[in-house]
Amino acid sequence: MNLPISASEAEAADAVSWHRGTCRLCGTGCRVQLGLDGKGKPVAMRGEPESRTNYGYLCMKGMMFYKIMTHPDRLKMPLYREKKTDEFREISWDDALDIAARKFAEAKQEFGPDSTAYYGSGQCLTEETYLFQKIMRAALQTNNVEGNPRLCMASAVGGYLTSFGADEPIGGYDNIEKSSCMFLIGSNMAEAHPVIFRRVMRHKMNNRDKVKIINADPRISATSRIADMHMQFKPGTDLAMLNAMAYVIIEEKLYDQKFIDDYAVFRQDKNVKVDMETFWKSLQDYTPEKAAKICGGNITAQMIRDAAHMFAKSDGTMTFWCMGINQRKRGVWANNLIHNLHILTGQLCKEGADSFSLTGQPNACGGVREGGGLCHILPGHRLVAKEKLRNQVEDAWGIPRGRIAPKPGSHTIKMFQQVNSADIRAIWINCTSPAQSLPNVDLYRRGWRVRTSLSSPPISSRPKRLNCPTWCCRQLSTLKNRSLWLHRAPQSDYTAHG
Ligand code: SF4
Repeated sequence: MNLPISASEAEAADAVSWHRGTCRLCGTGCRVQLGLDGKGKPVAMRGEPESRTNYGYLCMKGMMFYKIMTHPDRLKMPLYREKKTDEFREISWDDALDIAARKFAEAKQEFGPDSTAYYGSGQCLTEETYLFQKIMRAALQTNNVEGNPRLCMASAVGGYLTSFGADEPIGGYDNIEKSSCMFLIGSNMAEAHPVIFRRVMRHKMNNRDKVKIINADPRISATSRIADMHMQFKPGTDLAMLNAMAYVIIEEKLYDQKFIDDYAVFRQDKNVKVDMETFWKSLQDYTPEKAAKICGGNITAQMIRDAAHMFAKSDGTMTFWCMGINQRKRGVWANNLIHNLHILTGQLCKEGADSFSLTGQPNACGGVREGGGLCHILPGHRLVAKEKLRNQVEDAWGIPRGRIAPKPGSHTIKMFQQVNSADIRAIWINCTSPAQSLPNVDLYRRGWRVRTSLSSPPISSRPKRLNCPTWCCRQLSTLKNRSLWLHRAPQSDYTAHG
């Protein structure tokens, strides 16, 4: 395999033209240039030097991506089979789109708008998500619009909404080079977000004494190697550690009183306002000494105090976390406790400071969450349930008021339960492989296996299953392409993957 390891080597490949794009492999969102040879074949990939995210760099995954585009397993044409027992056969794009349109229209006509659904991905372009949800809402009149960020980013969204009242981080990657403390928790960014990690590492190497890095993680990873302090707690005890840091910040008056006065409100639950003293008393079970016992590992009370000092006293503290926080039980709480540290210390809304959840995919925020790709929100985070906001979208789209259904659609899990129960008859799955990524996926796999039985009772007397052969999903999950894979089941359920 020829792997260009630098921009100049990529330059030296046989590329005669370069085309800009975005790497879809991780949440960094590197801008890339794809090199094509004289016959239009991809022969190299390099970073876009003008990108303010990756500044011309790519990691190994991004650099090798062009190989996938010519891999023999990659689908180039839509595949279709009338019955599940048939072999797939290639069909034309025109035929594929006609079949898809007809099947969705038939489902709507026979079983109503909510018998159709769309399940997208944070790997889609913003335009793709926007267009799909518009078709579902404006044409098919259903809010059954979901995407896999519902699974991967739910805790981050819940945390941002409950701490700040709005989804998504306040700052951006720009803060990395301006920060003087970085708190990396629940993320092995050296491997999961290599280009962002490169920026973190370079900033640290250029400012060894000034920039402090705390890595909080049960594992020793490549990320820990650049840390000044590695807080190695027992898995599942991070809430105690974060509460203890908040305890120290208040006990030792490390907080930013002006920031708190200007922007913060302490609440006991959603409706009861309290003062900082009451909040601090609620942390009495998490003194550093008590928390150190809970956290185990290498955690000591002094380590928690030191971390709280580094966090609070730096000119700008940035926290990065990823699925170690977002995909744990009580993930929203974990997000809230990180935000609490930033709010208490005023490490927000200034250069070098941010409370920043990394994402697993490049376009979960901008594409799916901003683009209206979830069942309860229209573009721009407008709630489906609010008539005024629905009307804004209807006016913008030039469709009659009242066209968008007032009831939010089914969230991801309900959507696939409804596929099993045949309440959903036609679903378009775009750039994602729920047969691998749904939690408790076996629930659905069992259904698919039953479905393969030719002795299944007729449609009217048995729950329908998503007909999605595992081998095909495996294949699809490596493609990230826009090829259409169509498959029609014996019982008239219909699935399309893009
Ligand atoms: S860091 Fe992520 S977005 Fe950038 S090249 Fe690597 S996989 Fe692609």
